[in-house]
Formats: sequence, C-alpha cells, structure tokens
Amino acid sequence: MEEKLSLLGGQPVRKEMLPYGMQNLDENDINSVVATLKSNFITQGPRISEFERKIADYCGAKYAVAVATGTAALHCACFATGITLDKEIITSPITFAASGNCALFLGGKVRFADIKKDTYNIDPEKILMRISTNTKAIIPVDFAGHPCEIEQIMNIAKRHGLIVIEDACHALGAEYKNRKVGSIADMTVFSFHPVKHITTGEGGMILTNNNEFYEKMKLFRTHGITKDRKYMENNDGDWYYEMHELGYNYRITDIQCALGISQLEKLNNFITRRREIAKRYNEAFKNTEEITIPYEQQWVKSVYHLYVILLNLDRLKVNRRQVFDALRAENIGVHVHYIPLHLQPYYKKKFGYKKGDFPVAEDYYDRTLTLPIFPKMDDKDIDDVIKAVKKVICYYKK
Ligand SMILES: *Cc1c(COP(=O)(O)O)cnc(C)c1O
Repeated sequence: MEEKLSLLGGQPVRKEMLPYGMQNLDENDINSVVATLKSNFITQGPRISEFERKIADYCGAKYAVAVATGTAALHCACFATGITLDKEIITSPITFAASGNCALFLGGKVRFADIKKDTYNIDPEKILMRISTNTKAIIPVDFAGHPCEIEQIMNIAKRHGLIVIEDACHALGAEYKNRKVGSIADMTVFSFHPVKHITTGEGGMILTNNNEFYEKMKLFRTHGITKDRKYMENNDGDWYYEMHELGYNYRITDIQCALGISQLEKLNNFITRRREIAKRYNEAFKNTEEITIPYEQQWVKSVYHLYVILLNLDRLKVNRRQVFDALRAENIGVHVHYIPLHLQPYYKKKFGYKKGDFPVAEDYYDRTLTLPIFPKMDDKDIDDVIKAVKKVICYYKK
C-alpha cells in the first residue's frame, strides 16, 4: 500500500484511518444473536416486545413500537400524526434528510426553522414564524446528542394544537431537566444504526405515552393489517384479518432485537465513555481561539453522539475544506454533519429553497467539523485526534 503523506509534510499522525463513529460489539452481543437464531422465532417472536419494553422503561415512556429503521420510525410517527397531502411539518435544516423526508412520504410539506447559534438546535422563536394553518407537527432534532429546547417547543405546540415528534436518533440516554429524552415529546424517535448509541444493525423505535398514536403506528408497521377484534368489522374465523390502512412492512426482526437487548445493557457505559472523550477534547481545545467547542446548557445532559467543533475562519488562512482535507491526510476520519437540508437539490427544486434562507444554519455549515467519537476509542486514539487537530490548526492559523 502506498504510504500516505501528511498534507503539511512528513508522516501523518496516524498510520490507519480512525473513523468518526462505529459500533461496539462484544461476545455477549454475538451469543444473544446466536441464541435467537437457534430459537423458534427469528422474527415476530418474543424478543421484539422485550426490546420495546426495555427501551420504554429505560426512557420512562408508556408505549414503544420497534421498526426496521429510524427512517421508518419517523414515517410511522408522521402517519400517526395524520400528515396527509399538503399538511406541513417544521424541522431543523441541520439534520439528516429523513427528519424532513418522513413528511414527504405522506404527501406533506417541509418548512424549516433556523438553528440557534449556541446549541445548533432548532430555535423555538423561529418555529413560531413558520406555523401556518396547515402545520401539523414540529420535528425538532436533538443534534449531536444535545437535547433540543423541548419544553418551549411543547408549549408552542400546545398553544397551536400541534404534535411534537422529537427526532432523538442522536440522543438515546440524554436528559433534559433530569428527564430522559423519550418521556417528554408526544412521540420520540430513535435509530439503532451502527453509528448511533446502540445498534441492531438497522433499526428504529418510537416511544409515546399516547395510546391512539401507539395503535396507529402498530398498524402502519404491518401493512395496516389488524387481527384485533375490537377494530375488525367482521370475524370469519381464526385465519381472518382486516386491512384498515395503507401500511408498510416496517417490521424489525427478533435477531436484531436480541442484539438490541444485549447492547442496551452497555448503554450507560457507552455514554460514560463518550462523555469522557468529549471532556478530553473540551480540555484540549478550550483555549484554542481558532476553534469553538460544543456548548452544553446547564439543564441538559448531552450524550455526544457527535463531537462538533466550529472553525473560527477569521483566524485561519484557509477554509473548512482545507482543514478537513488536512485532517483526513493525518488519518483522522473527520466528517461534516450536516449539509443544510434546504440546500439539497431535491428540496431546492420542490420547495424553492435557496442559499440565504437560513443564515445561521448556512454559517454553521461553512465552519463545522465532526471529530471522531465512539466508545471503543482508546486513549491513544483520543491523543491522536488532539495532536492532529492542533498540528493542522497551528499550521493554518493566521
Ligand atoms: C440516523 C438518523 C436518522 C435515520 O435513522 P436510520 O436508522 O438510518 O433510518 C434520522 N434522523 C437523524 C437525526 C439521524 O441521525
């Protein structure tokens, strides 16, 4: 293999690329999956409801619906909300595409409210300006694992008769005013993709305290089909079922849930490690004027799904692209989260969004950089990241 050289000359800080995030699996996880493979049910068996119960209890919610992906979970929640043709949702421009797409799947429309400068989460004041007579739901995102202003957002929703679907795909285990994320919004959505806090390979879940939403989402997960007598028009016999809605096959398997149950036992340790890594980075960079470190509000406990820094470009000779390329050449798997959703070609074409529409989000995008953070990182990995960032910043500072 060709030796890669640092862009700044000489050897890179690391020999092999350190990814920005990845799963952490052990023998217990593997044994748990194997045991399910050897059992009578590999899907639609007992592991699904066990996983649902455990996540619901962990977060302090009444009901849980486990599904195939986080995106499917958002789709289910939008369906339960009653989003149909031309109904609108309001979300953050700094998020993964699925936070908006879930409304488009149902013929709905996406409006954006700009982010706050400090937390990079959706700004409640700006949500107010986007509410119309067609608005059905607000989908705030707990960006990077830092809970959004959920109390203010719930109050706005209550005053305007809206539903709040919290996209907490980054925030399993996070806390807002000593309450776990998942116990506050009307519905809360998690993802179990390998880069998230715990994984099922692919997977997602919705938590709610609302029985009506719960029943609708269960229906939507399985083709809109029910065998529940209290909903059926007829009952021809034991084989009989009825389709009441146009649902999907969004089911998760027992194999995946076996992994999820085993992973959940380690969640608190994973979170502790993420917070340790974040603390090390904070200490290392807090006096570096070229960098803004993440801001954590006193009343939240972030779970640091991402560790995001902002580059203070007026103090640097180069732009973010060059800092990114230089760090990648040092074999640090930096990343960028996210390209503002309103600037994606599909959204520009469909809704007429353009550059300049959400200036805080766009300024954020020009300056943001995600540093590697995941529980399996060892102290040497952390040191390498710090060393590489300092090397590159020192080289390019004015
Ligand atoms: C990961 C993620 C999703 C989608 O989850 P999948 O499981 O990948 O479908 C949605 N929203 C946010 C903010 C995410 O990070």
